[in-house]
Amino acid sequence: MEIESLCLHGGYTPGNGDPRVLPITQSTTFTYESTAAVARLFDLQDEGFFYTRLGNPTVDAVERKIAALEGGVGALCTSSGQSANLLAVFNLARSGDHVISTSSIYGGTFNLFAVTLKKMGIEVTFVDQTAPDAEIEKAIRPTTRAIFGETLTNPSLDVLDIERLAALAHRHGLPLIVDNTFATPVLCRPFEFGADIVVHSTTKYMDGHAVQMGGVIVDGGRFDWTQGRFPEFTEPDESYHGLIYTQAFGKAAFIVKARVQLMRDLGCCQTPQGAFYINLGLETLPLRMRQHCANAEAVARHLAAHPKVESVSYPRLEGHPHKALADKYLPDGCSGVISFSLKGVRDAGARFIDALKLVSLQVHVADIRSCVLHPASSTHRQLSDQQLHDAGITPGMVRFSVGLENIDDIIADVDQALAQA
Ligand SMILES: *Cc1c(COP(=O)(O)O)cnc(C)c1O
Repeated sequence: MEIESLCLHGGYTPGNGDPRVLPITQSTTFTYESTAAVARLFDLQDEGFFYTRLGNPTVDAVERKIAALEGGVGALCTSSGQSANLLAVFNLARSGDHVISTSSIYGGTFNLFAVTLKKMGIEVTFVDQTAPDAEIEKAIRPTTRAIFGETLTNPSLDVLDIERLAALAHRHGLPLIVDNTFATPVLCRPFEFGADIVVHSTTKYMDGHAVQMGGVIVDGGRFDWTQGRFPEFTEPDESYHGLIYTQAFGKAAFIVKARVQLMRDLGCCQTPQGAFYINLGLETLPLRMRQHCANAEAVARHLAAHPKVESVSYPRLEGHPHKALADKYLPDGCSGVISFSLKGVRDAGARFIDALKLVSLQVHVADIRSCVLHPASSTHRQLSDQQLHDAGITPGMVRFSVGLENIDDIIADVDQALAQA
C-alpha cells in the first residue's frame, strides 16, 4: 500500500462484524484461563496482551501502523517524545557509555542528553552536523554506543545528511538514531537512507490537532547488535531467566527489549485513549503535511521578500545552505515550520508576536492552527548564549508553525503584525 492508504488502513483490519473504526480497548488488564498461559506470556514464550503498560490492542494497532509508515520491523509507543528519546538511548547505552549527538536539536532533548543522562552516567558529546567526517569521528570513543540527530532540526531547520551520518556510524559499528518528528514518514523515511532507529514526538504532526502527548520508537531491524559493543543484547537478561534478545527476537531485538525491559521498568506508556487520538491524526497525515508544506513555503517566500525581515530559514528557499540536502531528503516539502529573524532591535520579534491576531502564541509546533514562539525566551531558555548559538538559534529568532488556515488570511495577519513590529 502507498502511504495515504497505510495511514487509513495500516495496523487494524476489522473482521466480519467488527467495528470499522479502531476501537478503544479501555482496559488495563486481560483475562486468561490458566496460570500456565499467563506464565508463558511472562516468559515471553507466547505473544498476547496481559497488562496495558506492556501492550494494549489499541496502542498495538497504532504501533503497527507507524512501523509500516516508516518501514520498520516494530514500534513502541511512549507517553511523550521525551520518553521515546530517553528509552531509545537507554536501550543501548548504560552508565559508563557515551553517545554522540548533533548540537542543533530540540531544547528538551538537549537538556535530557546534557543534564539528565549525565546523572545516569551516560555522557553525550555534541557535534556540528555539518562538520566533515574526520571531525565527527574524533568524538567517537571505545564506549560510544550511538549517533543521534534530527531529520529537520527544531527550531533551526537544518537538514540532516542521513546517508552520510549512517555510513559514518556504521564504519564504527554504531547505529544511527534519527528523530523524524518534523518530517514525518510522509516527507522522509530515514530507514531508506540507512538510519537504524527512528523516534518521534507524536505530539506534533502525527497527532497534529494539539490534543494528545505521545512518542514512538521504530526499529529498522537491520542493525547487527552482535558486533561486541552491545552486551545488553547478546548476554543473558537475568530478569527473563537468562533470555538473550538477539537469539530470541532476531531483527526485532531492539524494539522487544525496549518494551519488555525498559517499558516494564520505567512505565512511560501511551494510553488506549491517547493512541486512539493519534490514530485519528495519522489518518489524515499525508493530506495535512502537503498543505502545511505549501502554506509554509508561501509564508517563507513572503517573509523573505519583506523589507523588515533580516533572514528566513526554510530549506526549500533558494540560497538556503541546506537546499541541496532538502532536495534529496525532503523532495515534497520541509514541513510547516519556518524560522525567521526581524531586522533591528531584539524585541522586534516580540512586538511582531504580540501584534498577531489569527496566529497564536503557543508553546507548541506542528498544530493545524498557525502558531508562533520565541525559542530564546521559552523552549530554549535554559541554554547559554554559546549553546543557543550551537543550536542555530539567534536571540531574535521567531519560530513560525504554519497551519492549515487559508494562506491569504495567514499572510494578511503576518503583514499587519509586521507593520507594527
Ligand atoms: C517536541 C519534540 C520532542 C519532545 O516531544 P514531547 O512529545 O513534547 O515530549 C522531541 N523531539 C522533537 C524534534 C520535538 O519537536
